[in-house]
Amino acid sequence: MAKYDYDLVTIGAGSGGVRASRMAAQTGARVAICEEARVGGTCVLRGCVPKKLLVYASHFADEFETAESFGWSVPETDFNWQKLITNKNKELDRLNGVYQRILRDNGVETLNGFGKVVDPHTVNVGGKTVTAERILISTGGWPASPNIPGIEHVISSNEALDLPELPKRMVIVGGGYIAVEFAGIFNGLGVEVTEIIRADAILRGFDEDVRVTLTEEMTKAGVNIRSECTVKSIEKTDNGYSLLLDHDEVLETDLVMYATGRKPKIAGLGLEEVGIKLARNGSIIVDEYSQTNIPSIYAVGDVTDRMNLTPVALAEGRAFVETVYNNNPTTVDYDNIPTAVFSQPPIGTVGLGEAEAREKFGKVDIYVSRFRPMKLTLGDKDERTFMKLIVDQASDKVVGCHMVGPDSAEIAQGLGIALKCGATKAQFDATIGIHPTAAEEFVTMRDKLPEHGG
Ligand code: NDP
Repeated sequence: MAKYDYDLVTIGAGSGGVRASRMAAQTGARVAICEEARVGGTCVLRGCVPKKLLVYASHFADEFETAESFGWSVPETDFNWQKLITNKNKELDRLNGVYQRILRDNGVETLNGFGKVVDPHTVNVGGKTVTAERILISTGGWPASPNIPGIEHVISSNEALDLPELPKRMVIVGGGYIAVEFAGIFNGLGVEVTEIIRADAILRGFDEDVRVTLTEEMTKAGVNIRSECTVKSIEKTDNGYSLLLDHDEVLETDLVMYATGRKPKIAGLGLEEVGIKLARNGSIIVDEYSQTNIPSIYAVGDVTDRMNLTPVALAEGRAFVETVYNNNPTTVDYDNIPTAVFSQPPIGTVGLGEAEAREKFGKVDIYVSRFRPMKLTLGDKDERTFMKLIVDQASDKVVGCHMVGPDSAEIAQGLGIALKCGATKAQFDATIGIHPTAAEEFVTMRDKLPEHGG
């Protein structure tokens, strides 16, 4: 008789947990996954997927305007938020079913309930105890907000995806991925959006020119970005909310959303009791094989706070299975991971920003291109696309590619392959462009900027 009920029990059925569980089961392991909510996790239920559907929805206002410049007469348009949310939720139900089927078809047992680690080989799921040779924790993250008076009145991105109705005015606090994406969504849908950031610019960590360009484009599109501004308190009023800002300024609004980062979802998991080492922010400390300090317990995805992106969680899940169940020790390479921000316009990026590249390589060449997207040339919308290449002078390798503009997320994926292969600027230049596209600019930028900054 087997020593344990299962070979693997996974806690948390999001991207990383589902991928690892099904791949482990495919190797013949006996696997169970526990989940207290629906299967799918942040990406499918509360993040990437519903967010992108809302981004599509909000783009139509611009599309209707552009259509007129191409000769179309667009009758008066009307937008129905409830219909969008109903259709979005139908799609999430479908995806939830797909995930359940993936688990079932691969022989992974789903245990409904909250999983708590009891000891290195035991998990309590909703009152029932199961044992496993190994435990994988993939519980993800959850929105975090500062503890200021009135914070109980605010919503997070979770609720923003299911608002009963659209507000007229909205304040979004934060300048990260989530804040700029939702500012774009609601602005596009006609809400008067004020984005409050404590720093001097949005998207800390991104290339400086990208930050400036997106700020300019979001401002032109109508988002009121208030930089170097903090919210001291929030009060509920008869008509909405009243925010007390620096210098006793008061800002009235109908809805307040906080997107001030996310924290690892570890509450109630019993990690400290079992002796799992945590970082100061509560993330689970793991080695390069996703193993915690307790040899039978592993963790992948946002709960480990390495690089909080769905494809990274998937890669970590796969590497865990290769290492543990296929006898093939595998690590994830975190270099040159392409990423996108579905702001309006979107950002696509891979590699280093200019400041980071200068720090790492010393001398770098910078190539920049700014132009009006062709689709907008027949109308009078003033939007600019921005592209930037960063090249290490010594090796001629392209070490950073950045774009702000339509389709940049799609374009960055291919650039990611090039950087992963170590492509040089000479190889970019030797690549024939596809005309007429925006992407061709990446292989036709010939004039480097005069040397500056180091
Ligand atoms: P981020 O960490 O990206 O941004 C948090 C923002 O909140 C920063 O602008 C930060 O400011 C600000 N902030 C933090 N604390 C406070 C505070 N007390 N008061 C005011 N402002 C504050 O978090 P997000 O929640 O936007 O996203 C979480 C992660 O999710 C991202 O890092 C990303 O990995 C992932 N994600 C990826 C997406 C994608 O791939 N498209 C989309 C959405 C999320 P400051 O800069 O000053 O610290």
